[in-house]
Amino acid sequence: MLPRGIPHLITFACTLPRILFYTLARDPEILREVLVSGYAAEGRSLARIEGKVVFIEGAVPGDLVDVRIGKNKKDWAEGKVIRFHQYSLHRVEPFCSHFGVCGGCKWQMLPYDQQLQFKQQQVQDSLERIGKLDLPALNPILGAARTSFYRNKLEFTFSNRAWLPEEEYDPQQEAFPRRDALGFHLPGGFDKVLDIHKCYLQEDPSNQIRDTIRVYALEHGLSFYDIRTGEGWLRNLVIRICRSGEVLVNLVFHHDDREQRELLLDHLIRQLPSINSVVYTINSKANDNLSDQQCITYRGPGYLLEQLGGFQFRIGPKSFFQTNSYQGEKLYEVVRTFADLHGEETVYDLYCGTGTIGIFVSPGARRVIGVELLGEAIEDARENARINQIGHAQFFSGDVNTICNDLFFQEHGAPDLVITDPPRAGMTSKLMDKLIDMESPRIVYVSCNPATQARDLVKLGDHYTVEKVQPVDMFPHTQHIENVVLLLRR
Ligand code: SAH
Repeated sequence: MLPRGIPHLITFACTLPRILFYTLARDPEILREVLVSGYAAEGRSLARIEGKVVFIEGAVPGDLVDVRIGKNKKDWAEGKVIRFHQYSLHRVEPFCSHFGVCGGCKWQMLPYDQQLQFKQQQVQDSLERIGKLDLPALNPILGAARTSFYRNKLEFTFSNRAWLPEEEYDPQQEAFPRRDALGFHLPGGFDKVLDIHKCYLQEDPSNQIRDTIRVYALEHGLSFYDIRTGEGWLRNLVIRICRSGEVLVNLVFHHDDREQRELLLDHLIRQLPSINSVVYTINSKANDNLSDQQCITYRGPGYLLEQLGGFQFRIGPKSFFQTNSYQGEKLYEVVRTFADLHGEETVYDLYCGTGTIGIFVSPGARRVIGVELLGEAIEDARENARINQIGHAQFFSGDVNTICNDLFFQEHGAPDLVITDPPRAGMTSKLMDKLIDMESPRIVYVSCNPATQARDLVKLGDHYTVEKVQPVDMFPHTQHIENVVLLLRR
């Protein structure tokens, strides 16, 4: 609570500089009773103190907190909350029992409409402040109708060293008592795995699948992976559930033990017969990345079919696919509207993944050319084009920065529209120079990072104007933001 004699937050905010002066003099690393005033990027909040911006983790605007300062520069500092004096009136009760520890849905304490407002503001700020761009009015962010159980893919990790919450941690014991866990990696620690009992990110039977496997493994004394020593049998569990309700489970083992494996997988199938595909993978490498591993189908077709906008997409155990099909569909609809195709256009779909965007807009195009780094995603893209009977889409695997040269554009035709959907780092200058060279009349830029998008829009700014901006919320209760921009050639 507020200290006595300071009855009102506003009054209190006015006295901050003085308090801080004394505080800093006592302990330069701790700022006491800081009123958090706004949001910042990456899920952090901020307070402005004597002209300096302090980025704060673990707080929301309206909270009154003590902050332990980490980095401390001339104009800005960053820190973590170590004590709450008063909670923001905006806060709501988080619905997940793992909230605060898990790190997966950091914003459950904020009402959804506030989350959306913040994301909208974040896009506006990035484009205005970083980009200093001439902007049209932003379209209001497309919020999600479904704010929980929205992911079609979830990955759990087995660990023989469960991370213990502070209240369960006994300092007399060794730091990591042996305890098996099946759950999520915690942020900031490669060996911290939190045992998850109910997750609100994926529909059932997701929770049953995880719990069935855990119970069986514990009852039968199966060993959970030890990331430090590289020993232990059970490593990862990947569950994919699409909107039709089709379920694919991929269980990853460190080494093969046919007898035990079959007993476990048969048990899972018996307990949950609605699972369509059971796949397993033997991964003896040090890291969890499955892109170079073989996934073996044990039961069922070994892939799912997801429907988006009337198209079917084949999702195998390793396929890349937008993890929120509901909002993914909305995102692609925005792209299609911005693309405004009339049947004559040559469309490039850069960073095309499994070809979903290109296929989605293909009915309006004369031809679609997709480019993607991962060869397997390109195989999926070609398969997706085939099952949707789309003959005028071609997909090429390779680095967009090298593939998209003059010869490539000569061969496939001058672009009428370029759709680009780069990873968080955004596009390279080399690629943007090439796009400018190619004089595409329209570019639709899909981004999962408004900061790099703003930077790229500056680079394109001499040649393109920003015509439309549409933020989309793909990940409720998280700080992640997706934004679509339509650029028109000047
Ligand atoms: N547009 C797709 C995927 C977007 S994610 C969809 O909506 O599903 C970004 C994609 O860019 C990933 O599939 C990643 O493999 C690919 N990628 C990353 N760097 C690349 C590069 N240099 N060249 C081509 N593709 C790249």
